[in-house]
Amino acid sequence: MTHPMRALIAGNWKMNGLEAAILEAERLADALQSEPASARVALCPPATLISRMAHRLKGGAVEIGAQDISAEASGAYTGDISAAMVRDAGASLVVLGHSERRTLHGEDDALVARKVEAALIGGLEPIVCVGETLEERKDGRAETVVRGQIEASLPLSLNDRAFAVAYEPVWAIGTGLTPSSEEILTLHDVIREALLARLGPMGGQAPILYGGSVKPANAAEILALPNVGGALVGGASLKASDFLPIVRAV
Ligand code: PEP
Repeated sequence: MTHPMRALIAGNWKMNGLEAAILEAERLADALQSEPASARVALCPPATLISRMAHRLKGGAVEIGAQDISAEASGAYTGDISAAMVRDAGASLVVLGHSERRTLHGEDDALVARKVEAALIGGLEPIVCVGETLEERKDGRAETVVRGQIEASLPLSLNDRAFAVAYEPVWAIGTGLTPSSEEILTLHDVIREALLARLGPMGGQAPILYGGSVKPANAAEILALPNVGGALVGGASLKASDFLPIVRAV
């Protein structure tokens, strides 16, 4: 199957980066200006850098994303940031349901689904993360878990909106471990089927990104898999010299 939509390579900076790090984003943007990529390229810096990065990269090829938003629109939610706020700061995408949010902040599928709704209302394109833990994989439950996450984290209102899903096996994030190509293919097929069942034709359009220890050395092999529509990259997105070869591997 060819990708129905343009591939998306998104970098998740997690809780890394002070103002000086915007230089890395500028290096990436400059390189893409000289030689455009065939994929869409996004960086998701910490919320504190969104506005400054958006200003410095304005007009370039790098889109800006947030790493999370509140499910609420406004009000007494100390410390939280709404979709409208990150949009106002210059973001056009948002990562939702990342396993670090699910594990460290107790986010469940129902909350992720509410956040996806909030993103759509706020004009952000969601990248919704799903993926099994090592224990779930060892128990032979990877497919069931991921299918369940798709059904419960994706509201039906996505059926006419642009969005992406990121398949991120929890045990592959930040560990240097990656599933085999066959395992990635299998899970991406499961996700595609679940998307079609839940959302109809739009479920056939959304890119399914792979995430989990993507680096320059393995990007080409992973991104060449027929149903991989891009990548969500953590550690290797912090330096333009690592991220650019991944972007160029599409
Ligand atoms: C991630 O943060 O979503 C991720 C996949 O991290 P890493 O690439 O470092 O494994």
